[in-house]
Amino acid sequence: MNFSLEGLSYEALEAQLAESGVNPVHAKPLFRAVHRRLLRNDLDSAEGVLPPLQRWLASEQAAKSCAMELVGDTSSADGFTRKYLLRLHDGAEVESVQMGFPGRYTACLSSQVGCAMGCVFCATGQMGFSRHLTASEIVAQVHQVERELRRTQGGTIRNIVMMGMGEPLHNFEPTMEALDIITDNRGLNIGPARVAISTVGYIPGIRKLTRHSKRYSLAVSLHGASDEERGQLIPLNKRWPLVELLDACREYSALKRARVFFAWTLIGGVNDSDDHAQRLVDILKGMDAHVNLIPLNPTEGYKEQAPGEERVRAFQQIIQDAGLPSTVRQRRGIDVAAGCGQLKAQRVKRTR
Ligand code: SAH
Ligand code: SF4
Repeated sequence: MNFSLEGLSYEALEAQLAESGVNPVHAKPLFRAVHRRLLRNDLDSAEGVLPPLQRWLASEQAAKSCAMELVGDTSSADGFTRKYLLRLHDGAEVESVQMGFPGRYTACLSSQVGCAMGCVFCATGQMGFSRHLTASEIVAQVHQVERELRRTQGGTIRNIVMMGMGEPLHNFEPTMEALDIITDNRGLNIGPARVAISTVGYIPGIRKLTRHSKRYSLAVSLHGASDEERGQLIPLNKRWPLVELLDACREYSALKRARVFFAWTLIGGVNDSDDHAQRLVDILKGMDAHVNLIPLNPTEGYKEQAPGEERVRAFQQIIQDAGLPSTVRQRRGIDVAAGCGQLKAQRVKRTR
């Protein structure tokens, strides 16, 4: 059997070892070598890896590290935002991004190659869907970013956001398996509260997330406060309209006792008026909510632009006056084509 070590939970690793006749106590040093020391090729010489484990690693059936090659790498002018384009075993490519400051970085991960949701303003949506990522391929992105951070800045990833390419809740099981591994305190040990899953409103996934044992943060992309307006930006809204989405968010908030983060991509002349702000306030009334305003990153396939700074401030003022907490996402990475899917989209264009 062939599998990648990064995608095995601690328990799955123990089971795998037992199945191969190796004492499962060897799971501990191996899990540490993979998830703390981030070793790949030199695993068999790692501290604590004893002969039975070395033999298992060397055997033909035994696990290997996830194949992932860095094929594109861009940094913002200040060097703190860095975007990686990673090629997988079958040639598919995904992006991961690091943002933040030394000692407290956020890694933004992809969950799929492309995306099936087709949001009109999104570079990934414009590409269409190729395939789901495996748990290994999601964990390996964190390892790639953390390895580079250790090499260049001595830094550490503190937060994870599932805001790269793809819809994580459309790839529920592998995404959860990966996050449960990343947050395992025997490995990388990133706290579940520091992990945010961003969804376009894939309701069955929100319901399952609400019932998942760990409490990950939920971020929901809204961008419209009526079905008609939201439906024009997000085709999925036709299948799962706003009332149902907000009901699933309320349930998550109540059962998990957690705040829900709502993203609103601000598009000039489309969803940035005072009226839009007021309607956003109205639909979130009574909910423990926080709004993230994201000025649109222009993409090849969508002609609209971000509003000016004045308009962004006026929009924020209205929701602030209503007592709704909010932040404007700074476009720190704009010089590295920060919008999701944009690095890959540019590359596809160049190679055509
Ligand atoms: N599929 C998930 C997560 C990936 S997208 C989701 O849609 O939530 C992460 C965030 O980036 C979403 O809030 C999405 O609406 C936003 N986004 C996508 N393209 C954008 C663009 N061109 N400009 C600004 N925000 C964008
Ligand atoms: Fe997919 Fe999210 Fe882009 Fe929509 S915004 S197409 S759900 S990645």
